[in-house]
This record gives sequence, structure tokens and C-alpha cells, in this order.
Amino acid sequence: MVDYEQLCEKLKAMLTEKRYQHSLGVMDTALQLALRYGCDTGKAKLAGLLHDCAKNYDVPEMLTLCEQYGVVLDKVTAITPGLIHQVLGAEMARREFGAHDEEVLSAIRCHTTGKPDMSLLEKILYLADFTEPGREWFEGLDALRELTASNLDDAMRLALDLAIKDVLFKGQPMHIDTANARNQLIISKMKNA
Ligand code: FE
Ligand code: FE
Repeated sequence: MVDYEQLCEKLKAMLTEKRYQHSLGVMDTALQLALRYGCDTGKAKLAGLLHDCAKNYDVPEMLTLCEQYGVVLDKVTAITPGLIHQVLGAEMARREFGAHDEEVLSAIRCHTTGKPDMSLLEKILYLADFTEPGREWFEGLDALRELTASNLDDAMRLALDLAIKDVLFKGQPMHIDTANARNQLIISKMKNA
């Protein structure tokens, strides 16, 4: 049995209040999506709650922790602060929060980049992170919330498009998993058309 009270207490101490509230929002949204789409609710809640557990470290701390834990970062992740926390977060969820479920850890590990052939849980976490009620408004959010309620793959496609646009706008490198995730969704939609 997962002791949420204990997990929340520990998480709250590691995150800013804003980030902690976001985590609770993602947990709740992931739970709603799990109910809607027939995914394991316990896994969705846990992934939602813990997904950003490594988010509030500064970059040198993140890199030190990665080294300590033996977490190997690919080239693009290593130079993109916003990406490190998904990989480190999965490892911390396991080591610090006792989350050993591989599906949960895998969802945390790709919650920012996405990847091709995402599982239902991975899609749910990715979209819950994007659409939780506390999210600051951005162009496309309303459409994304609507699609998330009706078709997860179409919602993923829009979410990836928005994420890619953001990366281009900010001049950041694009992780290859994000490009592959988008291409794969387009290819499978063409096949099923
Ligand atoms: Fe995150
Ligand atoms: Fe998040």
C-alpha cells in the first residue's frame, strides 16, 4: 500500500510550493484520465505525484546526483536543464520514494520529451502534466484539454506540436525522442486511416 501522506510530506519538502501544487494537480488529472481511459489508477496517481520530484535542484546538483546514482544522460539531455529532471526523477522516485513499478518509472522518465510507442500510462502522465488545472494559460491549452478528454493520440500529437514549437521558439535543442514520438503518431494514423 502506498502511504501518500508520507510521500506528500517528503515531496513537499523537496519542491517549491508552486511545484508541489502542480504535482498534486497532475496526480489528480492523471487519476481522472486513468478512470476515463481504463488505466491503472494507482500507477497514474503515483506517476503524477512524483513526476517532478527532481525538478527543483539546480543544474550542478542534478548533475552530481546523476553521477552518484549512475544515471547516464544522453548528449541533448545533458545540456538541457529542463530535460534532466525526467531521467533523474525516475531514479529518485525509485530510490527516495520507493516507487519500483517499471511502468510508473518509465512514464516519469519520458514525461517531458515523450517517445515513440508510448504506453497508455505514459500518455496519461504526459498530458496530465500539460493540462492540469493549475497550468498557466498558453496558446493551444484549451484545444489540448478538449482533445485530451476525447482522443489521447490526437491530444498527444497536439501536445508534441506545442512542445516542439516551444523548443524552436526558445532556440533549445530538440530531443530526438520528441521528433520520433510525433512522427510515429502521424505514421500510425496514416496506417489506420
Ligand atoms: Fe516535469
Ligand atoms: Fe510537471
